[in-house]
Amino acid sequence: MRELFRALPSVDACLNAMDGVLRELEAPHTRSRELINRFLDSCREDIRSGAVSSPAELEADRLMPRLEAFLRKGLRPSLRRVLNATGVVIHTNLGRSVLARRAIEAAVTAASGYCNLEYNLETGSRGSRHTLVDGLIRTLTGAEAALVVNNNAAAVLLVLDTLCKGGEVVVSRGQLVEIGGSFRIPDVMARSGALLREVGTTNRTHLSDYARAINENTRALMRVHTSNYRVIGFHTEVSLEDMVRLAHDHDLPLLEDLGSGSLIDFSPWGLPGEPTARQVISSGADIVTFSGDKVLGGPQAGIIAGRAELIDAMRSNQLLRALRCDKMTLAALEATLRLYLDQEKALAEVPTLHRMTMPPAELKRRAEKLHRTLRRAIDRDYAEFSLVPGYSRVGGGSFPECDLPTTLVRVLPLACTVETLRSRLLHTDPPLVARVESGTLLLDPRTLEDHEFPALAQVLAEALTYRIQPEAKDM
Ligand SMILES: *Cc1c(COP(=O)(O)O)cnc(C)c1O
Repeated sequence: MRELFRALPSVDACLNAMDGVLRELEAPHTRSRELINRFLDSCREDIRSGAVSSPAELEADRLMPRLEAFLRKGLRPSLRRVLNATGVVIHTNLGRSVLARRAIEAAVTAASGYCNLEYNLETGSRGSRHTLVDGLIRTLTGAEAALVVNNNAAAVLLVLDTLCKGGEVVVSRGQLVEIGGSFRIPDVMARSGALLREVGTTNRTHLSDYARAINENTRALMRVHTSNYRVIGFHTEVSLEDMVRLAHDHDLPLLEDLGSGSLIDFSPWGLPGEPTARQVISSGADIVTFSGDKVLGGPQAGIIAGRAELIDAMRSNQLLRALRCDKMTLAALEATLRLYLDQEKALAEVPTLHRMTMPPAELKRRAEKLHRTLRRAIDRDYAEFSLVPGYSRVGGGSFPECDLPTTLVRVLPLACTVETLRSRLLHTDPPLVARVESGTLLLDPRTLEDHEFPALAQVLAEALTYRIQPEAKDM
């Protein structure tokens, strides 16, 4: 064992051997030393545990490739580009919406110099970030006023904290949803200091249930979009119009948390059932809240639109300071909303919209192109490729159960199991995330760009033939 320990290279020898790699990665010296020390420690641990038992395993040609993989992994950023072949357009785990080119440019411009974030260029005095995009939101939703915060959860919190604190807000039990990442609407409501008054049952709530719950402490009636599931069968929800009438009869505001909240009616594309923010406002809802990075296709943000007097109250709520967006978000949101002024333009240029509405014929053509790219790049001994009809999903809790027809490239690995393939693909650069079904990997062109096909073919080839550097142990 002593001999094995002595066979390990010194830190300086490792630094020398890795000089080229470390230069390429522009690695800071202290960080490189630290990583090399950690790597050598793990080698010593392997020697002690018996995992390494012969000096041959510690020779440079075996050890240095492992060290290189360890350094590359340790020196790269944590947040990385990922190839999304799942066909889930608004993939909550993969960063939701991809921004439009104009939105990216606007964020870069805002970040790379000073800007009038809180400076009124008419008067040369202090301005408010909260008035930068409210005009556009008013135009696009028909609301009297609007306000933007960090995300939709923050929007719900601000609305309830401002309008319902210390009082009761009436919600149907059928709408007390958990929307993933253990975000539960009832918990956020409780944080606002509003008391949740639950009415009805999971599958049926009637107007009379709401009416009976109203008392002198009631501050609002609220509807929550049941984003990620759909109740089918014996099921009743009260219509928005009926709830508006009931709320207004009692001088209460009707709040609607739309979740996804689109600005376009998608029924022509076979995506029915999601009301637009404009429809909700024109049906008389006093406040509507929705996300900036779900179906809207913009940056992470929470949009609040509705009656001016209620929005004004939210603007003077001290909590707003903790929930406000930064300049890059506001810039990207403004650029995205400007695209919506021309619906055709929005559908063409906002990636989320473009992908949701991509015609099946185009998806088929693109799947064929991906199929050709893969067959050219990958040896037949390693995988069989075929085209199969299938479905994509919108994701992000939007349009649950709506199947979007697509064409998938099916990959049947021949030299490893599909589970092995899947896990190797998490370690390629960039990593590739795809669906696995009956022993095959399914690639959906809907969530890929054509220019990503060659990179996809390369990482898939690496994973199928296992030419990736053996990953050093996790750090
Ligand atoms: C997604 C969602 C939220 C939370 O929105 P974030 O932008 O993720 O904070 C709140 N309510 C509903 C109904 C949702 O679908």
